[in-house]
Amino acid sequence: MSLSEIRKRVESKTRISRDEIAWLYHNAAMDDLSQLAKVVRERFHLSGEATYLMMAIVNYTNICVAKCDYCSFYRLPGAADGYLLSLDQVSRKIESLIALGGTLVGFNGGFHPDLHIEDYAELFHSIHQRFPQTAFFEMTVAEFLFSCNVSRVSVEEGATILHQAGTRWVTGGGAEVLDDAFRRRHSPSKYSVAEFFRAQKAILAAGMGSTATMVIGFDETLDERLNHLESLRDFQDQTNGALPSFLCWTYKPDNNDLGGEEISTEEYLRWLALSRIYLDNIPNIRTSVLTKNKDALLGLCYGANDFDLPTEDEVTQMAGAVVSHDFDSILATGRELGFALRYREPYPLSSGPYIKDSQNP
Ligand code: SF4
Repeated sequence: MSLSEIRKRVESKTRISRDEIAWLYHNAAMDDLSQLAKVVRERFHLSGEATYLMMAIVNYTNICVAKCDYCSFYRLPGAADGYLLSLDQVSRKIESLIALGGTLVGFNGGFHPDLHIEDYAELFHSIHQRFPQTAFFEMTVAEFLFSCNVSRVSVEEGATILHQAGTRWVTGGGAEVLDDAFRRRHSPSKYSVAEFFRAQKAILAAGMGSTATMVIGFDETLDERLNHLESLRDFQDQTNGALPSFLCWTYKPDNNDLGGEEISTEEYLRWLALSRIYLDNIPNIRTSVLTKNKDALLGLCYGANDFDLPTEDEVTQMAGAVVSHDFDSILATGRELGFALRYREPYPLSSGPYIKDSQNP
């Protein structure tokens, strides 16, 4: 295996194997990764352009029974500082985002043992009435899966309930590293990889959209990271490219049981580039201002084409992230790198590329 062989394969749009990604991970220089990622990026996007939007992550509850050792956010039921926001409190957070000029809200909370899928549906329905102009990512796949279990409904039934409440998007959040050994080590109560993808399929089959995410920098092995990318690429193949985007961010080690050190920006950029090269069936690769601040914009040179300007997120802030409202300065970093930046609309829901496979629900 050599760099020139892999470059020829990338340039001829030949699918890159996980062994080749592992080779690049160990051997390629940063410039080489940037160039290879650029080749794949240009299949989908103009080279000097990137897009962004402003969004808030509304953490409606920090009560959670999953006890992931890498989490700094959760509080067990009964904790003095546990909370569950009311509809009015959630609404005030959305109003704050709108006042800043933002257009997208992601909901992210804990595995609250008393919240049924109907409770979420009721909340989201009320929010849609109050904020018809705002786009929402309502729940992560992980929260959705847990609330279906609490409610004793299948993920297919749960997805129908959400869809009927008007939910259009769920995010692929809560994925971290999609590898069962990793999950057993750090969050054995959360889900298995098979359960995660079954929930993703149910969400898509009900007519909602979803996304792909990943978090790196815990103690995961390269093999575990590659398992994550491989399962995502396979899922995209199986669903005719149903997920429009892949967002990768970095683990923050403050205030949790796992602890450790945050990985370097170079390590993050290397993985972003490798993800772009390997995930040849996901058009949008997103870089994380939430955890990398201005450095995230460097990701535009390593295969990313899109990013958020986050206005709030307690989950990552509790773990050491700093959310900056100096949006002009963040955007200036992207422009100084030579990119024309355009505020974008939320992704449109596709007209339904995903056909439910009754043999493999
Ligand atoms: S990462 Fe999510 S599921 Fe895990 S403990 Fe934290 S809030 Fe709960």
